[in-house]
Parts: sequence; structure tokens; C-alpha cells
Amino acid sequence: MDTKAFKRSLNHSDHYHRKGFGHEVEVSGLMQTEYQSGLIQQLRDNGYRLTRGDVTIRLAEAFGFCWGVERAVAMAYETRQQFPTERIWITNEIIHNPSVNQRLKDMNVFFIELVAGVKDFSGVASGDVVILPAFGASVQEMQLLSDRGCIIVDTTCPWVSKVWNTVEKHKRVASTSIIHGKYNHEETVATSSFAGTYLVVLNLKQAEYVAHYILSGGDREEFLAMFQNACSEGFDPDRDLERVGVANQTTMLKSETEQIGKLFERTMLKKYGPTALNEHFLAFNTICDATQERQDAMFQLVEEDLDLMVVIGGYNSSNTTHLQEIAVERGIPSVHIDSGDRIGPGNQVEHKPLGGDLERQTPWLPDGAITVGITSGASTPDKIVEQVIEKILAIKGALTPVSPTP
Ligand code: SF4
Repeated sequence: MDTKAFKRSLNHSDHYHRKGFGHEVEVSGLMQTEYQSGLIQQLRDNGYRLTRGDVTIRLAEAFGFCWGVERAVAMAYETRQQFPTERIWITNEIIHNPSVNQRLKDMNVFFIELVAGVKDFSGVASGDVVILPAFGASVQEMQLLSDRGCIIVDTTCPWVSKVWNTVEKHKRVASTSIIHGKYNHEETVATSSFAGTYLVVLNLKQAEYVAHYILSGGDREEFLAMFQNACSEGFDPDRDLERVGVANQTTMLKSETEQIGKLFERTMLKKYGPTALNEHFLAFNTICDATQERQDAMFQLVEEDLDLMVVIGGYNSSNTTHLQEIAVERGIPSVHIDSGDRIGPGNQVEHKPLGGDLERQTPWLPDGAITVGITSGASTPDKIVEQVIEKILAIKGALTPVSPTP
């Protein structure tokens, strides 16, 4: 499919909306009531610090809802107002946050179900409104919805669209897109649908394997087995790695994406020399600011003397998991929870260790004075962070009065 031509024609269609519908004022009032928190605002105003009794809370200086997520949720709310009687669907979770998704369900927004691992669009009819989430949708899904005569409300974050433009550029000059991401993450699925030839690498280790193959060759069958779900159809490592460009899933660890970019630049330089480098390697700049800021703030926070870290965000949220990785690498005891409901009753927590399954820790908080670092992923509203802080204070008998110390 000519993805660029398809997107161009979609942009000109009356059935396709990429902006809000003029209900910003009503929606921003609703968002404020539902997602913002007075306590968190006080903490911000107080240098991201709160001490009550034995507990000191240190909040990361960049955390929580990013611009792209706030925009997507606001557009989904506006869509309900704009189309009060139409059936509204969403092709996936609007963002990776259970409470926000539940709120949309309460507003009678239907989620496309997965049947045997495949999205079931059979219930979607002509004239239905379909929202595409913040991390986008594949071009095939967009085409299906467009052909069916649906009204499409596209909340894809502009940062994600920027990555799509990058892989389109690679395609135009017959370069393979090497995408740093998780091959089955919705954003990477969407990005690879816009790419021509592509290969998805999960981490630096996989990228080094590919770089080694470029320079020295290797076992073709082993290569294909390693990337069997993570490359374009018919991918041939002996043919398709002569010209490469790098792109990424916007929520990957920024430092790792940069290392991968540099690795391929060095590799192509070594193989083809400086004068031919531009023919074999396309530089990139697709790291989202919000992801970068949250990771930088986390690196700053873990330098402090923390007894434990609480990382809040959906369990399938890539950017949240990377924040937890930073705490784990520093050896700080950390829990990843998706809401305050995971805490209690009493002094216990149900959390998800990195790469593991949910487990219960009891007792959780130690006796005596503690300093707790807190951060949250880009899909987590302040209200949830507030709920977590209040529960921690309650366990330590320090809940009231809740206001920051000067
Ligand atoms: S994390 Fe970045 S790319 Fe993702 S929605 Fe937020 S601003 Fe957009």
C-alpha cells in the first residue's frame, strides 16, 4: 500500500478528525476534577517534597500525565460531547492507565475486543465513531475503518506521527528502518505498518548482534529465528542491512536509543567509510521530550538517599517500566503499582517486580523514619499519585493534616 498517499487522502476526508471539536472549556473543567490533585500541586509548589511524621515523600520533578496523553484523553472526552448519540469505539486502550480507560467505558465508549489475539472489528458499522489512541493505530486498521465509512477521531500523539514520518523517509530512499522498541507494542506495530523494510530491536544487546552481522556476517537462520516476529515479511539480513535508518518507540529508554543510533552509525562508518556514510546510514531524532524529562528526573531522584521507590503506572506501560528499571539498576527497593488500590489493607502492597508477575509484600513499609521516592508514568493522572501518597501516610499514621511542610 502507498501509506503516504493513503494518509494524505485521509487527511482531506470529512470523516477524519485530528483536532478537538471546540469543547475545550467544558472538557478541561472535567479533566481537572477527575484527574488533577490539590495535594500534588502543593507538593510541586513545595519543591516536590512533603514531610509528615516519620515519612518524607520525594516526588520526581517531572512525572505523570504528558502533553500527548492529556491531549488524547481530552479529545476522547470531546468526541463524546460532539457525538452524544452515535456509537463510539476505541481501537485500543486510549492510554495505558486502567482508571482512565474505565472512565471512558463509563461514558459508553466501546473497546475493540481481541479474539484469539486478533482485533475483532465485526461490531463496527458505517457511521460509528472510532477513536485511535495516543500511540496510534496501524495503517491497515485506518484503512479498514475508512473503507467501512466510520468517522475517525485520531488522537495519535504528534511525537508518534513524527516517527511515522521518519520511517516513511527511510522507505523513500530504500533504507531499512531499525526500530528500537517492543515488536508487539501497539505503537511499534503502528510504526512498522508505515515502514517499508524493517527490523525491530528490543535492546542494545540485540542491536549489537545485528551490527556484528553487518560487519562480519553470521548464521542467517539464527538471525531469522531471533527476529522472526520482529521484521518485515521476506526480510533478508544479507540483502536488507546495507542501508539503515534508526527510529524508535517513543517511550524506550532514551540513553539506550541513543546508544543504538550511535552503534549503527559507527558500524556503517566502519563498513563503508566516511564519504559513503550518508548513503548507508540515516540519522534520527525521534525521542519524545516527555519521556526524556521523566527519565532525567528519575536519574536525579535516585541520587538521593531513598529507602524505597514507588513507581506508578499501567503494567503494560513501557515508559513506566523504564522508570522502574532506573530504580532497580541503582539497587533501590522499588514497587511498581498501577493504582493506590494495590496498597492495603494494612501494611501490605501488591506490586509487579520488573519482568515478573504480581506479588504481595507484607509487611511493606519498615518501622521508623523513611524517605519514599515517587514517580509515575506518562499515562498516570495526579489523582492516582495523590491516592498512593495518602495510603503511605495512613500506614505510617501520618495522614493528617496533609499539607507540605514549609
Ligand atoms: S510519552 Fe511522548 S510520545 Fe507518548 S504520548 Fe506522551 S508526549 Fe506523546
